[in-house]
Amino acid sequence: MVLEKLKDLLLAFSKRGADRAEIDELVRGIQRVLIQADVDVKLVAELADRIRKKALEEKLPAGITRREHVIKVVYDELVAFLGAKKAEAKVGRQKILLLGLFGAGKTTMTVKLARFFQKRGLKVGIVGADVWRPAAFEQLRQLAANNNIEVFGLPKEKDPVRIVKSGLQEMRQKDVVIVDSAGRSAFDDALRKEIVELNKIISPDEKLLVVSADIGQAAGKQAREFNAAVGLTGVIVTKMDSSAKGGGALSTCWAAGVPVKFIGVGEKADDLELYDPVRFVSRILGMGDIQALVEKAKTALEPKKAEEMLRGEFTLSDFYEQLQAMQKMGPLDKVLEMIPGFGGLTARLPKEMLPTQEQKMKRWKFMIDSMTKEERNRPELIDRSRIERIARGSGSKPEEVKELLKNYEAMRKILKKMKPSALKRGGLGKMFSGFKMPR
Ligand code: GDP
Ligand code: MG
Repeated sequence: MVLEKLKDLLLAFSKRGADRAEIDELVRGIQRVLIQADVDVKLVAELADRIRKKALEEKLPAGITRREHVIKVVYDELVAFLGAKKAEAKVGRQKILLLGLFGAGKTTMTVKLARFFQKRGLKVGIVGADVWRPAAFEQLRQLAANNNIEVFGLPKEKDPVRIVKSGLQEMRQKDVVIVDSAGRSAFDDALRKEIVELNKIISPDEKLLVVSADIGQAAGKQAREFNAAVGLTGVIVTKMDSSAKGGGALSTCWAAGVPVKFIGVGEKADDLELYDPVRFVSRILGMGDIQALVEKAKTALEPKKAEEMLRGEFTLSDFYEQLQAMQKMGPLDKVLEMIPGFGGLTARLPKEMLPTQEQKMKRWKFMIDSMTKEERNRPELIDRSRIERIARGSGSKPEEVKELLKNYEAMRKILKKMKPSALKRGGLGKMFSGFKMPR
């Protein structure tokens, strides 16, 4: 996606000096990228000013070079720019009204949200109140049926208020009721009247506007219109997987004063994420050399590593690196959570995979240090005599070396098992490859 070019800019910057001219060039590059991602020009100018000011004027923290400082400033400012705070979802009894124009992804999102709450142990029902789009109810019924979610609708009824009244009655035993409303091709008076009335009758806990990433900064205008009509509690940006304008959509909603709650990252019912700007920016910048620099300035995330491991290229050296990284940033499940679609898998990780005590890690380090490079990269070579040699070399018992190898093997197996579903869901790779980059 366009935003991914930020990574290249920072990478280029990280290889140069960090004087005023270099910083200016970096900031101009960032401006260009954001404008390409359809971010509002005025917002971009303000962001650029903030970055320039902080990069040049702020005092350097101890042990940090000017260049590293600049990269961290860019990172922090982008996070703040895209919403700063991670969204939260109330997991409990509630009514949710989804609003939005034609094709935004409302109906798909209705089912995604239903799955989201269902997976968290709540009873969920859907009410289909789109009386505008032909066969709208049939589409919803089908999607819901595929995901074992109860749905209520009156396909011949033309009054959404009547549908909703009966629907709420019908679904009164449910913990979460989600109402899919009708769109229009543009916001108009008829739509305003309709949603104001629905809002009155449902009195929803969440009033969420669904917008598609591909409308870019036009999302902000919609957020203001819908917000003025019913007082939105949030926005959901869908199709983040397939549009280059996601940055514009996210930043304008935030600027319009309506927080982004969820993002849609695919057509499937599980392609949903709680919006987290830190994770979002990390995903854009969080790879390779940039990552190392940002991490030095701030403990950050390592999605690249996780993705590599899931491709099955997981050696003892990786295992060791991972053990160290785990101590720094928390357990593997946190790493996996950063990859779209993986949150649910982490519950299946056995407890032994969680960070090992420092003592044991130290011993393991000695053992891995006593291996040849070849052994580290091809652990299958390590036979009994090698185990004995490694044990001697590291001052440990052969049993302990075996224990290390067993742990490594267990982790490798888990990663391998995850692979098929991981690849199907796409993970990071899909997230990026889906973005259409205008070049
Ligand atoms: P509605 O008119 O607002 O109810 O929109 P729909 O839910 O019918 O979605 C319109 C189209 O967008 C459908 O083809 C969906 O499969 C597709 N869609 C919805 N959400 C996403 C998403 O997050 N990513 C992608 N790639 N497609 C999506
Ligand atoms: Mg629909």
